[in-house]
Amino acid sequence: MTQHTCLWWEAAQKTAPRLNKFLPSKTDVVVVGGGYTGTSAALQLAKGGAYVTLLEAKSIGFEASSRNGGQALSCLHHTLAETVKQHGRELAAEMFRAAVRAADTVERIITEEDLECDFVRCGSIEAASKANHFERFKREQESLHESANFEVILLPRGEVRSELGTNAYHGLMINPRSGSLQPAKFVRGMAMAAERAGADIHEGTRVFSIQRLSSPAYDGTRFLVRTERGDIAAKEVMIAANAWTGRILPQFRRRVFPAESYVIATEPLSDELASRLIPNKRVVYDTRRTLAYYRISPDQRMVWGGEIAMAGASPKTNINILRRGMTRIFPELANTKLDYHWEGTLALTMDENTHAGQSDGIWYSMAYVGHGVTLATYLGQQLANAILGKPNNNPFANLKIPTAPPYEGKAWFVNIGKVWYRFLDMLS
Ligand SMILES: Cc1cc2nc3c(=O)[nH]c(=O)nc-3n(C[C@H](O)[C@H](O)[C@H](O)COP(=O)(O)OP(=O)(O)OC[C@H]3O[C@@H](n4cnc5c(N)ncnc54)[C@H](O)[C@@H]3O)c2cc1C
Repeated sequence: MTQHTCLWWEAAQKTAPRLNKFLPSKTDVVVVGGGYTGTSAALQLAKGGAYVTLLEAKSIGFEASSRNGGQALSCLHHTLAETVKQHGRELAAEMFRAAVRAADTVERIITEEDLECDFVRCGSIEAASKANHFERFKREQESLHESANFEVILLPRGEVRSELGTNAYHGLMINPRSGSLQPAKFVRGMAMAAERAGADIHEGTRVFSIQRLSSPAYDGTRFLVRTERGDIAAKEVMIAANAWTGRILPQFRRRVFPAESYVIATEPLSDELASRLIPNKRVVYDTRRTLAYYRISPDQRMVWGGEIAMAGASPKTNINILRRGMTRIFPELANTKLDYHWEGTLALTMDENTHAGQSDGIWYSMAYVGHGVTLATYLGQQLANAILGKPNNNPFANLKIPTAPPYEGKAWFVNIGKVWYRFLDMLS
């Protein structure tokens, strides 16, 4: 029987709950949300000498940050060529370089804070699902070299088997700077590091709204943060609530929306089978719009996510969709037992870009489009540096965010988008 729970939770370190702790009436900085963005920001702020209060509605990492695929990617969601088209050559190269620095930031925090989270710089593989996608890899390799001085490795169809035990792909692009980690261990470890540095973390503390004072108080207080456990006055506020940013900041209500992604994990595979399927234990994703992402976990399971699994469909339907996708690539797994299935919520915007900056004096960072392990950690740190008045690098600052159709609760148009993407995948 497949358990409906996240594989990563059990093996991650347990921490005493941070519930019903004394809530201060005043603080320097309130950080709303305890995923990678919030814990990374809290760590940097506390180390920089700020009195920082992190408010998390549920528990640390309960949402995407403990449920994801653990792919620590050293690139952006869009190709560099697409990013250039959207933002121009200079800004696009800056954004790409930030993504590379983001992977370095993850490694640096893990080393400096001595976090045990199974981090390995294994490299990532993008697998061409169609022949013309490999042609795109060749152009991307050239632009990465020319515009960002960044090298990726291409393997044509005939050499795919040196990296993946399948005949399903038309070639591979390998990014050697990407890594893998255990998501729940990483986020819990970062929260503990933030506490060691002096951050005050409160779980079970939902923020309802932020009120901006008409004029700053004598001590620099500018905001009143209203929570289910009382109000806190703060000089600065950072929203690190990702898919739920629009519930706190009405100006983002129609700009960022939640989208579900589904994951399955098999029983542990034999050493021999695991090494045949992904010999170098790299993390993998394909080029379809309805992409699949997968990897071998530290305990040797195939962890498989994405595909066209739908919000609102029965778990059985989504498990079957994922299993079919997995066995299409690796027929050897057809009779392998599934031990776990789970889902998580990511944040999307209509332009599928990351957005981080300030709105009405309130800091925000969100919508990492499947690249949040590295980008959320990096941008949490960069916004913290900005708050501390230190040098910072955030090429995603204040990009225009297109509006999405109106919705309540779940974004109804995400399923429609997935079906449309599936149609486009069939065409090109
Ligand atoms: C299934 C899945 C697979 C993924 N795979 C990958 C991957 O392999 N690689 C990758 O890079 N990215 C991946 N991602 C994306 C990545 O997990 C996210 O980009 C990243 O975790 C975002 O971190 P965050 O801290 O911004 O948001 P979250 O982790 O979502 O944290 C936001 C927090 O804010 C809290 N919150 C919300 N509202 C309030 C409120 N009103 N008051 C207080 N707290 C509030 C929530 O409870 C939550 O804990 C995946 C996502 C999913 C769902």
